[in-house]
Amino acid sequence: MYRVTLIQGDGIGPEVTEAARSILDATGVDLKWEVVSAGETAWQECGDPLPGAVLDSIRETGVALKGPTTTPVGSGFRSVNVAIRQALDLYACIRPIRQLAGVCTRYEKVDLVIFRENTEDLYAGVEHLVGDGAAEAIKITTEKACRRIVRSAFEYAVRYGRRKVTAVHKANILKLTDGMFLRVARAVAAGYPEIEFEDLIVDNACMQLVQRPQEYDILVMNNLYGDIISDLGAGLVGGLGVVPGANIGDETAVFEPAHGSAPQIAGKGTANPVAMVLSGAMLLDYLGEKEAARMVLEAVEAVLGGGVLTPDLGGEATTREMTEAIIRGINRPPLK
Ligand code: ATP
Repeated sequence: MYRVTLIQGDGIGPEVTEAARSILDATGVDLKWEVVSAGETAWQECGDPLPGAVLDSIRETGVALKGPTTTPVGSGFRSVNVAIRQALDLYACIRPIRQLAGVCTRYEKVDLVIFRENTEDLYAGVEHLVGDGAAEAIKITTEKACRRIVRSAFEYAVRYGRRKVTAVHKANILKLTDGMFLRVARAVAAGYPEIEFEDLIVDNACMQLVQRPQEYDILVMNNLYGDIISDLGAGLVGGLGVVPGANIGDETAVFEPAHGSAPQIAGKGTANPVAMVLSGAMLLDYLGEKEAARMVLEAVEAVLGGGVLTPDLGGEATTREMTEAIIRGINRPPLK
């Protein structure tokens, strides 16, 4: 039995986490869910968007499945996502960007993985006003953080048989901060001669990814570029509704989709559960339940390939219809 913390989140969060929970349960893996509240929901319930009980629960179980939580824009409380990642030192954000059967896009054979440093850079949240008409934000970069994110990208490449790691940066302008990232990346790469290594300036990376996404394999970068390029990557393979994610540290891991709480479609029953469900498959893989993870992945692809698509993918299926179809796919005995 595995204890798993479940954060339902805001907006479409409760709908997609419920879908993921029922699909993970259908695999037969014995998961004991411990439900805690964070984000706007918790803010309204108890005046704290990240109650101590949430971090305590994740520290105890070691693993969480998290729905998206709303972050107020421009003012209000700090991002709960960022706070969780920093508090638990979940330094590696991993987002597989993969073409799925049945999802119509302009590209073919896109299969890349984004490694985003999760704990520093402009996300350290150090901002201040300078007089009345100016403000400053501080971009924090340490060798330690650069080294561990690049190393996890290479270790992943070795473990999953990947061929190339590309470091994305702006070291031509930010010579100290991104310059450090690039220098450390080159040093780490030297320890993995069997994996190809290259670097790319972030603006060029955006253009190359739009023109030739198939040429990339693993991309590693700091926090802000990782945020932006994740959404660009989602756009290559059908949108935010299909891109899962994991935030991994040395002790704990939190699995959550790349998308936000999408309040415009909350409660309508049309949210695409795939990103959340595939985040759940990554959680199963992390727990060592490889066969169950594979079952979920195959059932999702079979359902999408069979034309059961939510409106964001051009179909008319509801969250519930897609969820039920995936569960039927998991329960179906394999063809002999
Ligand atoms: P955040 O700032 O929290 O990252 P965001 O402003 O980037 O959020 P999202 O909530 O991620 O925005 O979503 C952007 C748009 O993508 C939504 O308005 C919605 O149309 C679409 N979208 C995102 N996730 C899904 C989903 N699971 N199903 C369907 N549409 C989605």
